Parts: sequence; C-alpha cells; structure tokens
Amino acid sequence: MNPESSNNNNQTNPRKRPLTEIYKEKPPLTLNCMVVAIDHNNLFYTVCSTCEKTLPDPSPNTHLPFCKYCNFKPVSSGSKRLFRVLVSIATEKKVIVVIMFDRAARVLFGCSADDFFDFAKTHPFAAASAGKALEGEMLKVTLSQPKNGNARNLRVVSVLPLRTGFQPVIETLRELYRARGGS
Ligand SMILES: [Zn+2]
Repeated sequence: MNPESSNNNNQTNPRKRPLTEIYKEKPPLTLNCMVVAIDHNNLFYTVCSTCEKTLPDPSPNTHLPFCKYCNFKPVSSGSKRLFRVLVSIATEKKVIVVIMFDRAARVLFGCSADDFFDFAKTHPFAAASAGKALEGEMLKVTLSQPKNGNARNLRVVSVLPLRTGFQPVIETLRELYRARGGS
C-alpha cells in the first residue's frame, strides 16, 4: 500500500566503490627546490577552446586542427594553448623532472600560454630566455603523483616563488627586450 516501498524495490543497490581503491595516491608532497632547467622547446599543448580536450599539434603546413570531441567541426577560432612544461628541479637529495601544467606555470610566466606564444613570435629566443630567467629560482612546490598511470612525472599542483622580488618571466623578458631594443 505504501507507494514508496515499490520505488525502493526498483532501485538497485549502487555498487560499492571504495574510494581507497579508486585512487591509491600518496599524499601530495610539499618541498623547497631550485629550478635547474626547463624544457623550453616544448612549453605548450593545444586544446579545443570549447571542450578543452587536447588537440593534435597543428603541423605548420596545415590549417587548424579539428576537435573530434566537437564532432569534427573545424575549430577555426576555437583552439588555444595551455602551458605544459617539464621542469628539472633540485631538491635537497636529488634532481628530478616534474611536469607543470597551466595553472602552476602561469604563476611563473605571469601570462597565459597564448600570450607567451604571441610574445615569442615577435621576440626571438623568448622561450630560451624564459628558461634562463627561471634557472636558479627557488620555489616552494607541492607535488602529486600522476593520476594517469601512464604519466611518468610528478605533477606540480601548486608553486610559490620564494625569492623576494621574484617577478614573472614575462615581466623579465619585457624588460630584457626593451633594454636590447632600446625602445
Ligand atoms: Zn572540442
């Protein structure tokens, strides 16, 4: 007679998914480190600006890539770059290579990946200079294990420059090129 009881009977038990089984992650690790080098040849990846899925790198000879997640519509103005930077850092014990995605990298670069890309188009060697600017910088970083089992590098989830007077890379480069260009 109780209408709710039949509803309840129709519901299947949700399958138990213990969270500890889904992510057997080690807790994030926070430490101080020094930047040894960055891989300045490979600072970006391209995503669809609609769904933010990774797009294949456009070859210089073809037009913009298509997003297969958005039904292969040409993403004419719809792609953007995000930072993905491999950084060698020296901790107290060793040098390791970590990966820094957009949110963390922006802290160091002080601009979006697209802005940096545009700057680099008109300022030769900007990427290499960015690497030089960051070398030796002391950082407090929080590292997490990659969630993707294929990923090899620890991931920088947050970064805090420790040096008083730290300025983002883009500011350093603007000063540098202004001084060189004399304008
Ligand atoms: Zn898309």
